Parts: sequence; structure tokens; C-alpha cells
Amino acid sequence: MSAVQSAPTAQSEALFARARAVTPGGVNSPVRAFRSVGGTPRFIASAQGAYLTDADGTRYLDYIGSWGPMILGHNLPAVREAVADALQFGTSFGAPGEREVLLAEQVTRLTGVDRVRFVSSGTEATMSALRLARGATGRKFILKFRGNYHGHADGLLVEAGSGLMTNEGHLGAAAPSSAGVPEEYARLTLVSEYNDPQALDALMAERGHELAAVIFEPVVGNAGVLVPTPEFLAALHRVREHGTLLIADEVMTGFRLSLRGATGLLGLQPDLICWGKIIGGGLPVGAYGGRADVMDFVSPQGPVYQAGTLSGNPLAMAAGLATLTALENTPDLYARLDAYTAQLASGLKSAAQTAGVPVSVNRVGSMLTAFHQDVPDGSVRTYTDAARSDTAAFARWFQGMLARGVYWAPSQFESIFVSGAHGDAELNATLEAAQAAYRDLG
Ligand code: PLP
Repeated sequence: MSAVQSAPTAQSEALFARARAVTPGGVNSPVRAFRSVGGTPRFIASAQGAYLTDADGTRYLDYIGSWGPMILGHNLPAVREAVADALQFGTSFGAPGEREVLLAEQVTRLTGVDRVRFVSSGTEATMSALRLARGATGRKFILKFRGNYHGHADGLLVEAGSGLMTNEGHLGAAAPSSAGVPEEYARLTLVSEYNDPQALDALMAERGHELAAVIFEPVVGNAGVLVPTPEFLAALHRVREHGTLLIADEVMTGFRLSLRGATGLLGLQPDLICWGKIIGGGLPVGAYGGRADVMDFVSPQGPVYQAGTLSGNPLAMAAGLATLTALENTPDLYARLDAYTAQLASGLKSAAQTAGVPVSVNRVGSMLTAFHQDVPDGSVRTYTDAARSDTAAFARWFQGMLARGVYWAPSQFESIFVSGAHGDAELNATLEAAQAAYRDLG
């Protein structure tokens, strides 16, 4: 892993060429195409623990974890066995089954919500929660924060983060942030700056009475990691004084930052919570939940329609149940993830400093971003701050890491995710690669 000799990529290149002929950009989700870092995206053949193996047979130490779900590492035996067990009984019923009840009982017990509805992605969870908020309040407008990403529903692609921060021509773009989103939709979405309590208070004073919901990432992963200030969290709680519902988008942070998510960690009390990623253990599951008096507006109990052919799918429910149960049965997991990621943060920092490369680290638990910027750690607090990063330097560093066998998130504006399968050997290998990759830049 120490030699800087890029692994062969002939098979990935061939697959990418075939994929581009039949799929827009050759991928089914934009950031996978490596557009902002260059080079050939690796086509993955298998994954185990903390490692991915690509089509050319090269093994990479993985810090993406399928963008979050793999908190216990890839191909967890308990998940594989649970899915194999469920598979014996059929793949989809289009009628309710026991596993949906079991997972709903587990989620409500762990997170404190009264009711939960399962869908098949994080995008569905946030868009359904917003419809519910509109239905429950009878109001049209919503508010989100610049650089927060809540999936690709029309009204949420407004000054959004994640892949949209590196979408050519869209960095810092005004609303909407995707072609195909009518301005009329975007106009129903107000945008404020994350971590700016004064701006939020002012907007609420003026428009609060029209706002159905404020949706936010309780710890941002999609502008790179941004950590909320206590003052901002207090301002978020105040939005309720206007009859506006507070929606915590925990698609990324749910079950990652604690069993009770970022909301539990930060002592937040939102009206609705959205989940995705870990809740499905690597199969397509999203969910939204909250207090009974709000959730009971959802059809067929109430007038807000939301449905799904594969919602509550038995294989997906089995994977979610096995994952959440494994999390509950690994009591030291969050402490271990925190300790590993803290060492990773300080190791990256000192490697960058030694090489004379300016880097500013933001971290919460097992989420981390090393911004290529000459500012103190923790001082990148907003989308505007994050967007000042040297993305060209990041791209070169990313390639240096990849060449040394470490698969970092292929964008400056993403979090990496540490899993329970990352141990001392992985930490040492990562820091060795990072030292060399920073040296290349210095
Ligand atoms: N919300 C947040 C905070 C996310 O990070 C994501 C995806 O990364 C989504 C929503 C959308 O989830 P999905 O990609 O499952 O539709």
C-alpha cells in the first residue's frame, strides 16, 4: 500500500465505457462518476468489512461505506443471514407482514417517535415528511438551509449540497440548483444560512406564519461536515413558536451518531424525523416518523396521501432489523467509532501540517471532513465557508490516497464514514497513505 503506483483500472475503464453508452454519465448517482476529482471511477465487484474490491481485483480501504449505511462494515454476516432467511418466504407481498411491525417497534423504541412510516429511500422520506407538514399545518412554504441536502425532490433542490456543490456551473448557484425544477416550486422553498441564528430568527419573524416546516441536517454531511452551534440549535427550537414544524433530516446521522441519532446526541426535539441509509442496513429503506398527532395525518389514517409498491419490503426490513439489532448488541461501538475518528482527525491534521498543506478538520463522531483551507479546525461553519476550499488540492490528495489503496469520498463536500470494521491496522495504513499524499502536495 505504500508504493505510489496506481493499480490497474482496465476492467473499470471498460465497464465505465459500456456504462456511459447506456446510462447518463455512466453511473446511477452523480458523485460516483469522479467528476470533481478526475480519473476512472472504480467499478466494485465485492465488499467485505472495511474493504472494497474492484473489477480489476484491487482492494481498497473504504471510507464511504455505501455513503453511510455500512456502519458495521460491509457484508455483515448477521445481515446476510437475515436477508437469506427472509428470502425463503418470498421477496415482496404488497400486503403487510410481521417484519414491518418489528422494525417499526424497534425504531419507535430507539428514537422516541410515536409512529413511523417506511418508504424506500431518504428522498422519499423527506418529501413525504414535507407533504405531511404542509397537510398538517395547511401552509405552503418550507425553509431549508444553504448546502443542506435532503434528496432530489423538486422543492428540495434549492441551494442544495452534496453532488450539487460540485455540479459544474452550480457551485454557489442561486435557487433552484438543478435544471428541470420549476421556479414556481423553488419559490415555495425559502433558504437561510446554516449556523446563522439571527438570519433564521429574522426570517421566522417575517414569514414564520406562512411556513409549514423548517427542514435541516442536525449535523451537516452534505457540504462536508458542518457542526451546529448551540445558538443555532436554540434558534431552530424557536421556529415552533410560529406553529412551524421542525423536521430533522437524520438520513445520514440517524443511528450513526448515536442509537438516537444526532437528535439524541444534541438534545433536539423535532416534530418529525427522517431516516435512510443505516435503517435499511444496505437495502433500500427510508422512513419518517414523529408524534402521533402529526403522523396520524398520513393516509389511510388521515388525508395526506403517501404510498409505495415496495414500502416495507420484507428483505429490506430484515436487513434493517439485523443492523439495528447488531447496533444495540454492540454497546461500545459509538465510543470506538469516536475514538478511531478522533485519531484519524489528529493524524490527518499533523500529516498535513508536516507537509505544509493547509487543512481544517470538522468532525462529529464517525463523520469527518478535512477541508483544504488555511483556517483553524472547526471554523468552517457554513456553506459559504465550505465553498472556499481548494477543490483542486483536494482532488490531487484524493488521487494520492486512491493510488495508495485508500478510497476516500470523491468530493471535498462530503463526509467520510468510519465503520466498526475499521481498526488499528486500517488507521495506521490510512495515516501512512495520508502522510505521503499530503507530501505530494506540499
Ligand atoms: N437527506 C440526507 C441528509 C442525505 O444525506 C441524503 C442522501 O445522501 C438524502 C436525504 C437522500 O437520501 P437517498 O439518497 O436515499 O434518497
